[in-house]
Amino acid sequence: LVSRKKKPEDTIVNVKGEKIGDGNPHFIMGPCAVESYEQVKQVAEVIAEKGLTLIRGGAFKPRTSPYDFQGLGLEGLKILRKAADEHQLAVVSEILNPNDIEMALDYVDVIQIGARNMQNFDLLKTAGSVNKPVLLKRGLAATIEEFMYAAEYILAQGNSQVILCERGIRTYERATRNTLDISAVPILKKETHLPVVVDVTHSTGRKDLLLPAAKAAMAIGADAVMAEVHPDPAVALSDSAQQMNIPEFHEFMDALLNKEKVK
Ligand code: PEP
Ligand code: MN
Repeated sequence: LVSRKKKPEDTIVNVKGEKIGDGNPHFIMGPCAVESYEQVKQVAEVIAEKGLTLIRGGAFKPRTSPYDFQGLGLEGLKILRKAADEHQLAVVSEILNPNDIEMALDYVDVIQIGARNMQNFDLLKTAGSVNKPVLLKRGLAATIEEFMYAAEYILAQGNSQVILCERGIRTYERATRNTLDISAVPILKKETHLPVVVDVTHSTGRKDLLLPAAKAAMAIGADAVMAEVHPDPAVALSDSAQQMNIPEFHEFMDALLNKEKVK
């Protein structure tokens, strides 16, 4: 079902009017984790100011260590929804548990399935059985074929509103947090009809590489770029080192966008 051989035309995932896959670049920006209303509000304001319509932020955080901040859960989704509604933004947020999908429908506009859950087949099936766009991230060590099969699980349940996200894979290289597999973008665009987004934050894990990685993503045919922004990254409860602050966000967006187009 994901194959372009079966469906030659591009799938456009319409998220509250933002048509991901329409050939124009789209941006999914926001903090790593939802920490407070005040924090999300500041980010939502600058996202709206830049003319963007999507905000990301994790309420359920899949942390490597059980002792790290696990997210605010439902309270986090409520904060995200409130801040997004105040600026007419659409919400992208990760859900970890299939039992939370139903609840999430009231708060999110795109269900994110994280890298660590790319092969959580119950989660894929549950997300596939609801009428809500899904952003599926490539697993930490998943081949492109495994990634496409994971997406197939979602489409097989009837939900074809799927966005694929390349977020770097684990290799021997330690100069970046993960290795951005930039060639996955044109391969996924060729093999599937689904829109493709590149997460420059989790793939590079380096602030100095966000802009060049985003430019590369757009040049190679990605439909959207995801990156993290936090009002005060130094005190962020997760991914402190690689989130942009607000002035850096402005610089990043100005460098990527045709300023005339953004009011
Ligand atoms: C995220 O985007 O918040 C995240 C946890 O990313 P990943 O699943 O790609 O590690
Ligand atoms: Mn993060």
